[in-house]
Amino acid sequence: MDLFSSLDSGDLQDLSSVKLELTALKEKLNQYAYSYYVLDEPSVPDAEYDRLYQRLEHLEAKYPELLDENSPTQRVGGAPIDAFESHRHAVPMLSLKTETDSESSGAENFDVRIRKELALPPSAALVQYMAELKFDGLAMNLRYERGRLVRATTRGDGEFGEDVTHNIRTIAQIPLELQILDPRSLTYPVIPNVLEVRGEVYMRLDDFQRLNERQRERIAKGMRGERTFVNPRNAAAGAVRQLDPRVAAERPLSFFAYGVGEVIWNEGQNSDPKEYVSVFKTHQILLASLKALGFPVDEHAELVSGATGLISYHQRMGLLRKTLPFDIDGVVYKLNDTALQQKLGFITREPKWAVAHKYPAQEQLTTVLGIEVQVGRTGKLTPVAKLSPVFVGGVTVTNATLHNQDEAQRKDVRVGDTVIVRRAGDVIPEVVGVILDKRIGSPAPFQMPAHCPVCSSLAVREEGEADYRCTGGLFCPAQRKQAFLHFAQRKALNIEDLGEKLVDQLVDTGTLKSLPDMYRLGLSSLIALDRMAEKSANNVLKSIESSKSTTLARFLFGLGIRHVGETTAKDLAKHFGSIDALMAASLEVLLTVKDVGPVVAASVRTFFDQAHNVEVVHQLRACGVHWTEGEPSAALAPLALTGKTFVITGTLSRFSREDLKEQLESLGAKVSSSVSAKTTALIAGESAGSKLTKAQELGIEVLGEEALDSLLGLN
Ligand code: NAD
Repeated sequence: MDLFSSLDSGDLQDLSSVKLELTALKEKLNQYAYSYYVLDEPSVPDAEYDRLYQRLEHLEAKYPELLDENSPTQRVGGAPIDAFESHRHAVPMLSLKTETDSESSGAENFDVRIRKELALPPSAALVQYMAELKFDGLAMNLRYERGRLVRATTRGDGEFGEDVTHNIRTIAQIPLELQILDPRSLTYPVIPNVLEVRGEVYMRLDDFQRLNERQRERIAKGMRGERTFVNPRNAAAGAVRQLDPRVAAERPLSFFAYGVGEVIWNEGQNSDPKEYVSVFKTHQILLASLKALGFPVDEHAELVSGATGLISYHQRMGLLRKTLPFDIDGVVYKLNDTALQQKLGFITREPKWAVAHKYPAQEQLTTVLGIEVQVGRTGKLTPVAKLSPVFVGGVTVTNATLHNQDEAQRKDVRVGDTVIVRRAGDVIPEVVGVILDKRIGSPAPFQMPAHCPVCSSLAVREEGEADYRCTGGLFCPAQRKQAFLHFAQRKALNIEDLGEKLVDQLVDTGTLKSLPDMYRLGLSSLIALDRMAEKSANNVLKSIESSKSTTLARFLFGLGIRHVGETTAKDLAKHFGSIDALMAASLEVLLTVKDVGPVVAASVRTFFDQAHNVEVVHQLRACGVHWTEGEPSAALAPLALTGKTFVITGTLSRFSREDLKEQLESLGAKVSSSVSAKTTALIAGESAGSKLTKAQELGIEVLGEEALDSLLGLN
């Protein structure tokens, strides 16, 4: 327990202990605000900051004599940093009062306050509000003079902001030159001489994921000075406050306009609040005007009436939140009537006519109970932090991914640590950082195990890759389903009737444990399955039986050796001619195979170095899987169609193109996709088109389907 939560919020604190607590709170909040606003690197989740902030507000309200004008509750954001030119805002950029209460009371509190401030009797009509999403980015002031963007400034401390024009210019959504795109939506269809547009610069969730993905790759490649970002807000703030616009341009940012600052209609005049109100009678009109000038305005903004309208909006957007392509941390309610807005004005750091109504936090603090390594369907090893259950982003989270060894090492998450967990939308929960101050003792750093935690096969990390993988592909229970489906697919053993659902059931019931089990399946174990009639069960057995006779290339491909695709499998089969020769081949020998480089060679070697994998191959053969093994290619006699090139076109009735291609290739022919002078013959089925014309023009032989039997030596 920390100092702040241990203190009772009741009445019995003496003044000296209150002073002590106030000082400690202010110190902590200032320290957190500095990391957040100035360094763009929050050190605790917002929920933690908000908790202390609310405690400070509470104490200051209770002991007004202790209120100090430098308190974080009296200030907006953080001071501008020296690296940027600082500019005084013509109209201060304020913060918003926050309601965090449940969906109804937060909205009701605001409506009650507004009605009271406006001295409305209970019989008065419902108040009209514009309700908007509260985008989680950073506020920006865009100043246009004579229709041209002259300066973009951050909110800074509300009075002075940082000039970040060079970076904001890289955001394609922000017009550099204003144009009236929709004159009908403007009550005053003229571009003001000075117009300051205010809105939020943010990063979409998909852009954020991609950016972090790329950053992870850069870190894995050992590029210096690269890092991943804690959340989209942080990434957006970091990009906007970059000194180098090229770096900012690499980080995809977006913008929503939601208000204005200074507006001067004609040159040489001052801003005139009356004129402002006569043009922008309502906030709704203001938003429509910004849209008509080409600014992105979020389509979820809505005019609602009274507290019930606000409550319903809060509820509906709360449900929508996880499907939105960007982060929001709440909704904002704004009095729609601008004359009334002006009447209410603002206090210290926030307007009285607007409020932010927050949703449950998407980041929280919790502790790491352990770090487990999970093995995915493809053998990928992922470290996962087991967490003390925490309610975040609307669900209770107990696990969070650490992605891979580099990420786990970079974040340096250790067992027992206090960490920030994030869950936004439907994105899987993630540990975004460790609160080092709270680390107890010196727990051991995480290290990826050398062997697969499921099957004990060697775990390897290939050069240039971020992930470790289990090499026991055929044996590892975690990879079973994937291994069966890969083996059974058309291009491999072609077991047509063994589909995904069937494999799922057979693996889940423990009937299929290893590939050879497939050849030991009996009718009874199949008809015991859900929705499996005897006829279909027999079909499955038939297709399994006929898969036994195959080619070495298909068999090799079916084994699912990493980096061994169809073509490489053919090259290996051709070169070695037998599985035993391949299994015995050293790295050096593998490297002599056509098109086989060090990565493929190492992958093949490691695969067959796992005794389990070799055992599976032996068992498959013992079950009757066979192919015609020949001698290594050097000793092979030329095949019947060696040196010939065919092109296939039109629809064939007895062969699929893929099968025909394979048969021709197995006889040494090449199959090409276009007709040229080098083509030996065109094999033309029904409705052949341009290829046939071309072949005829070039005088190339055209073979019909009836000629195939003799070509393939089938008769
Ligand atoms: P705020 O972010 O809660 O609200 C004001 C801001 O909302 C505006 O400046 C604007 O940028 C934004 N906004 C988004 N959509 C809007 C819309 N439709 N209309 C108007 N404004 C809109 O207030 P704040 O004073 O900037 O900062 C407080 C927030 O920052 C809190 O959430 C707090 O948790 C967080 N914070 C966190 C830390 C930390 O260490 N984690 C430190 C400091 C502050």
